[in-house]
Amino acid sequence: MRFARLATVVSTFALAAAVTACGSSQKTADVQASPGTAGNGGALVGVTMPTKSSERWIHDGDNVKASLEKLGYKVDLQYAENDIPTQVNQIENQITKGAKVLIVASIDGTAITTQLQEAADKHIPVIAYDRLIRNSPNVDYYATFDNFKVGVQQASSLLVGLKLKTADGGDGTAKGPFNVELFGGSPDDNNATFFFNGAMSVLQPYIDKGTLKVKSGQTDFKTVAILRWDPATAQKRMEDLLTKTYSGGTKVDGVLSPYDGLSIGILSALKSNGYGTSGQPYPVVTGQDAELASVKSIIAGEQYSTIYKDTRQLADVTVKMADTVLKGGKPEVNNTKDYNNGNKVVPSYLLEPVIVDKTNYEKVLVQAGYYTQSQLG
Ligand code: BGC
Repeated sequence: MRFARLATVVSTFALAAAVTACGSSQKTADVQASPGTAGNGGALVGVTMPTKSSERWIHDGDNVKASLEKLGYKVDLQYAENDIPTQVNQIENQITKGAKVLIVASIDGTAITTQLQEAADKHIPVIAYDRLIRNSPNVDYYATFDNFKVGVQQASSLLVGLKLKTADGGDGTAKGPFNVELFGGSPDDNNATFFFNGAMSVLQPYIDKGTLKVKSGQTDFKTVAILRWDPATAQKRMEDLLTKTYSGGTKVDGVLSPYDGLSIGILSALKSNGYGTSGQPYPVVTGQDAELASVKSIIAGEQYSTIYKDTRQLADVTVKMADTVLKGGKPEVNNTKDYNNGNKVVPSYLLEPVIVDKTNYEKVLVQAGYYTQSQLG
């Protein structure tokens, strides 16, 4: 029994390692050069971001814009407040204004096929930023983090928080069983299924053994997904779960949350239901993006962890791609197999996400200059 458990644990973490390895080991890509041409110095670059309601996208937009401008390009940066028709119009306008490259962080990865065809007809290369654009042949490159690994890390950190595992992958001191609930991201965002599948690759064996119990019975992605990553929807779902599933006195011990904004909504529902006291501490709640409010919440002992994705690195990689394409070259990619958009495998550059909790936030976030100590209070 002990050996069987150990074997599962080892294979889970070996899988995580293998996934990481395949994400970063491929340094070559034999892809067609994008149709960019030389002589694009000072050209206009269209950048579209989903929303300003989440801090990360503000950083992304600012970083991409500043780096492009440093290279002498003009930038049209637009946010669409998560409204699909607005983003469609913004992309159309950028094509009309004569943008020479489009950098798109899409809201609905399937909704801009027509605009991308227009771009292709005008030989405007398209770079998908963070989120894959789906069902279109007209996506030239993709810059993102290893999204499956993000999910693996979220789930691994949930296990560490529950003391079923130690941070270095060993056995923890707890045996369980623990009650957990699962949340997924927006179903129209390709990343959300990657996060969920990554997380379930770690959690499923524990659910199968009964060490983790999803008491609501809600384990499939469609049921747990939160449209447009809306914190209020997550808060409402958590409230409903607490009322329907946990009213008899059983406690929820862990919540898989894929994004800091959702974690804040989830924690708030928990607080209104009596959690967050010394007698009834918060469950282990995960997150993503290392947003300021959530890092503060981690320091205060509320949210357990987040996944840090350095948006400065993502902006760097993307701007390098755009600059190379504008000069008629072939950008560096490190993955040419994992991101099939339903039409083709899009050559991608994957960056490494990092788990952050109370034990390492200073080292990871402050020493890297992502936040200052005074911002964190
Ligand atoms: C991003 C995450 C973010 C989420 C909600 C995803 O596409 O990869 O970093 O938490 O969108 O904005």
